[in-house]
Amino acid sequence: MCGIFAYLNYHVPQTRREIIETLFKGLQRLEYRGYDSAGIGIDGGNNKEWEDKGKQISIIKRNGKIKTLEEEVNKQEDVDFDAEFETHFGIAHTRWATHGVPNIVNSHPQRSDKDNEFIVIHNGIITNHKNLRKFLESKGYEFESETDTESIAKLIKYVHDNSESENISFATLVERVIQQLEGAFALVFKSVHFPGQAVCTR
Ligand code: GLU
Repeated sequence: MCGIFAYLNYHVPQTRREIIETLFKGLQRLEYRGYDSAGIGIDGGNNKEWEDKGKQISIIKRNGKIKTLEEEVNKQEDVDFDAEFETHFGIAHTRWATHGVPNIVNSHPQRSDKDNEFIVIHNGIITNHKNLRKFLESKGYEFESETDTESIAKLIKYVHDNSESENISFATLVERVIQQLEGAFALVFKSVHFPGQAVCTR
């Protein structure tokens, strides 16, 4: 069974190093559930203002143990680990593959597009993912993984791009997305359009 962990520090300054440490502690607590790969999603920018930093998302994923992922994170050269965030939302996942073999691309977070506008971690199975994928591919979305989860990441961008004039909240956006999902899911979403905001649903 997979594990989901998310951590929001809201107006409680934390360095990127501290945030990453918290995410890994969370994942370690879920390790007993079993998993085949792991990943994290954090704010990627190195600018001074936290809201600017939140306009980029970094995803780091690895096959195998959490320890391997941790080593990979520590190797990242372009990451300023001392950068401080007044507010930050980070997400972390251990995957138990149901759709697609365990590999880096199939690990979570799954993303909406190459710019990581929306990312999602998922526990469960989306039974109508083939139909969603077919629809989204017909709209020009290019899938990169074999997972059912990727259709959720693409769908939220589709709904966002088609409701931009309405100026809706992140939570409303997620509500509209889950109305289209069949199956079982616990989900956590993060987005460059809503820095410092967390939306979870099951
Ligand atoms: N069905 C999803 C996948 O295979 C999530 C699996 C899980 O719960 O870890 O990627």
